[in-house]
Amino acid sequence: MTAASPMPELPWVAAPAAEIARRQRGHALLLQGHPGAGVFELALRVARTWLCEGTPAPCGHCAACHLFATNSHPDFRALLPELTQVELGWTTGAAEGAEGGDEEGKGGKRKPSKEIRVEAVRDAISWTQTSSSRGRAKVLLLFPADAMNLISANALLKTLEEPPPGVRVVLVAEDAERLLPTLRSRCQRASFAGPAPAEALAWLEGEGVAEAGVMLAAAGGHPLAARRLSAEGFDADAWRALPQRVARGQWVPPPGVALPRLREVMQKLCHDAMAQAAGSVPRFFPPQSMPPAPEWPRLSTWSQSLARLARNDEHPFNAPLATESLLAEARDVWGKARGR
Ligand SMILES: [Zn+2]
Repeated sequence: MTAASPMPELPWVAAPAAEIARRQRGHALLLQGHPGAGVFELALRVARTWLCEGTPAPCGHCAACHLFATNSHPDFRALLPELTQVELGWTTGAAEGAEGGDEEGKGGKRKPSKEIRVEAVRDAISWTQTSSSRGRAKVLLLFPADAMNLISANALLKTLEEPPPGVRVVLVAEDAERLLPTLRSRCQRASFAGPAPAEALAWLEGEGVAEAGVMLAAAGGHPLAARRLSAEGFDADAWRALPQRVARGQWVPPPGVALPRLREVMQKLCHDAMAQAAGSVPRFFPPQSMPPAPEWPRLSTWSQSLARLARNDEHPFNAPLATESLLAEARDVWGKARGR
């Protein structure tokens, strides 16, 4: 798996970032988009544009741009949950909010936290109250902003209401409606759809993803998610074979893939089987790769069961057992339907 660099650059974010940075009037920006489309990378680019000391911003070679590229700009902070940092390979010190994962189990084994903690938010707020080190803006970025709990969100609200001079706050969310209305109403909003399919395909091919079209569909059209699936061991051949293998109870997941990802894959398969049963076209799997559609009530039960699992599969009691039961349930959806 290729570790993402701390400051990844994606070709399709440059133009929208310039536009957003230019249009921004207030001190708070709410950026809505899918992580797999590169919304975080877009937010980084906007921040870099505001902090750049050259022209045209971001120039890429001024001192500020260099500091930003090494994630050591003193006037930039990103608050990311620990789990998101792990997923992005975001390892340097400028990302705050990592301290203290969830206390899990009595054995002291810590799982990466999914939350932006209130301590991290308060620490960042005090940071915004000190003067800018390089005399320009200070930028605080929160990704994903809906990883703030109510207490964290309320702590941030005061800064959004009465921001210190020169401070800009960027909230990045896949679904802005999941944020507190009081937060949303303080922000200028922008949304980001990601690259056109042709650009996404060209980029994936450049990243060494074979049969990029199959993998892009597998990831719901989101190129970063497609690259990650590929890095996790889902290649196009394996993806095409997956539905039939699951239906026969013969699918073996790639080694090391965590339960939430396996559940997501099953949700995609369930979605496509439902589409097929309803007479429409599968979205994630090639249509010819799908086994005959099971009966609707079984699909509906399966879908609800997967949705329940989605609420607690980050920290399963017993991951191997949970995986086994996930696969057995999927097989039964087809097995029993076939027997009728
Ligand atoms: Zn610059």
